[in-house]
Amino acid sequence: MISTNNIRGKLRENQILAPYTSWKIGGPAQYFFEPADLEDLQEFLRQCSTLEEVPITVLGAGTNVLIRDNGIRGVVIYLRNHLNSLQQLDDFTLRVAVGVTSARLMQHCIHQGFADAAFLAGIPGTVGGLLAMNAGTADGNIWDHVLQVETIKRDGMITYRDAKEFQATYRHVTGLAHDEWFIAAKLLFAKQDGAIAQQTAQAILRKRSASQPLTKPSCGSVFCNPPGQYAARLIEAAGLKGTRIGAAVVSAKHANFILNEGNATARDVELLIQHIVKVVKQSQHIELTPEVRILGEI
Ligand SMILES: Cc1cc2nc3c(=O)[nH]c(=O)nc-3n(C[C@H](O)[C@H](O)[C@H](O)COP(=O)(O)OP(=O)(O)OC[C@H]3O[C@@H](n4cnc5c(N)ncnc54)[C@H](O)[C@@H]3O)c2cc1C
Repeated sequence: MISTNNIRGKLRENQILAPYTSWKIGGPAQYFFEPADLEDLQEFLRQCSTLEEVPITVLGAGTNVLIRDNGIRGVVIYLRNHLNSLQQLDDFTLRVAVGVTSARLMQHCIHQGFADAAFLAGIPGTVGGLLAMNAGTADGNIWDHVLQVETIKRDGMITYRDAKEFQATYRHVTGLAHDEWFIAAKLLFAKQDGAIAQQTAQAILRKRSASQPLTKPSCGSVFCNPPGQYAARLIEAAGLKGTRIGAAVVSAKHANFILNEGNATARDVELLIQHIVKVVKQSQHIELTPEVRILGEI
């Protein structure tokens, strides 16, 4: 049992996680904690650190996770809009906490005239998720802009770490220890004209709404693009557009999106992911790897 002495945030038991994900899929968290602020998170972690056997999972906005129907054992810490500070440090650098949404970060950057932040347009989620995934597009990735991060460990200790201590590649970052999570980042952008930044972001959003199915729940692209290839093209070439398992469907608009058409289960989606991998391997001779993080108990 987790104690809540001096904790100001909300701790709930058996919280269904589906509403906390963009796919609207996912079973319960054994414990679900929303910290009031950073000090509250530190205090909560200190109290949990005595319970070594309780696993801890950190969620940003749940836009790149598939949470299994049996849910997540241990504690899920939900940070979206909880660690929420954003400070402009000088003309080019800012410190942003991980619960800030990428939409808010992008709006701030546009306002500052940081046109090189426009790649964030249309990427949902939080700064924590951006950092953990090295999120981005062909126009840029978040770690191109990271100078330093602040991390927290299970004992509540905060460490300042240089970006050079991490290796950020396509949708993958190494350098965090076990039970260490991002809590903030210092980011650097180049100042340009605010109007150019705004126009670039708007053009990206128009392109996304023309090419991506944004009206039904999804996690964005399910698979990473293999080197020199597009996962969407391979899935389409394999004839898989429109393929359905339960209420999980391969989008007809963008084949790398799996849509939840209403009451899809994580099992529907996971079986569809496995089917896509198998069929693409047989017909296109390429093994797709999921970009989405699959979490929880089988
Ligand atoms: C419509 C749509 C379009 C998308 N387009 C893009 C795109 O163009 N490019 C792109 O890269 N992604 C895209 N995504 C995927 C997703 O938005 C990004 O990966 C985003 O950065 C995830 O952020 P999140 O806060 O939702 O992370 P979550 O889904 O909550 O978490 C993702 C992973 O990060 C870990 N994590 C979260 N916060 C922390 C933290 N503070 N410390 C350590 N680990 C943490 C989680 O444990 C999990 O493993 C898209 C998603 C959707 C739904």
